[in-house]
Amino acid sequence: MEQKDLLYEGKAKKMYHTSDEQVIWVEYLDQATALNGLMKDQVNGKGELNNQITSKVFHYLSEQGIANHFIQQIGKDEQLVKKLNILPLEVVVRNSAAGSFSKRLAIPEGQKLPTPIVEFYFKDDQLDDPFINDEHVLFLQIADEAEITELKTQARKINHLLIQLFEKIDLQLIDFKLEFGKTATGEIVLGDEISPDTCRLWDLKTNEHMDKDVYRRKIGEIVPVYQEVLTRLTQVGL
Ligand code: ADP
Ligand code: UDP
Repeated sequence: MEQKDLLYEGKAKKMYHTSDEQVIWVEYLDQATALNGLMKDQVNGKGELNNQITSKVFHYLSEQGIANHFIQQIGKDEQLVKKLNILPLEVVVRNSAAGSFSKRLAIPEGQKLPTPIVEFYFKDDQLDDPFINDEHVLFLQIADEAEITELKTQARKINHLLIQLFEKIDLQLIDFKLEFGKTATGEIVLGDEISPDTCRLWDLKTNEHMDKDVYRRKIGEIVPVYQEVLTRLTQVGL
């Protein structure tokens, strides 16, 4: 597969066209951002770690029957994925209160939710990714009723599988963000990444943050923490 011109440069990844129109070459960057780009730092080694973690998690989800864009990891910080028409939605699943949920509803961080909650955010940097509901999704013509149901069903299924995976490596899955897109044939499949940048993971024994909150909240260095997540995944054979 041959890398062609740059399709898009985001905050965490660069996406390139390839010799196959349906395939994208993804390069994970050594860059950390938060607060919609207000915090931005070069972090050597981060791209490689997120590429490896995402590759392992997507491989696991493929094995469990979740349709997704992942094709293969092709280098330390690179992978090939199927080109999707990404829906401008961040689909967030929460198992415990944290972050914006805790702030909005004044629920202490770490409080377990009786059942997982799925939320939608409109993916628009200029608007700061606002929280929206199903009716906004319909109004914005991002998805129809059946597709909204499909997104929620997939998100809950993925949540179930990720809880099991992370439990195996002594991590509690507090919440996470997913992105979905449509393939050339119109099928909705999981895209983007699943890594400590997009999940809140707390150590089961110590409750330590093992995710991007270490950067957002200036708790410490993220590379050793992300490395620990990768090491644990490798230790259980992923
Ligand atoms: P951001 O756009 O938020 O800065 P990234 O740096 O992670 O984020 O950029 C990756 C971009 O590529 C995101 O906009 C994401 O929606 C998009 N994307 C993820 N997977 C695919 C895919 N399979 N096909 C096309 N675009 C994708
Ligand atoms: N998240 C993400 N990208 C975003 C916003 C959130 O990956 O642009 C993830 C975040 O890492 C967390 C979950 O989605 O795992 C819920 O984030 P929240 O709404 O609590 O926002 P935050 O506290 O990051 O402002």
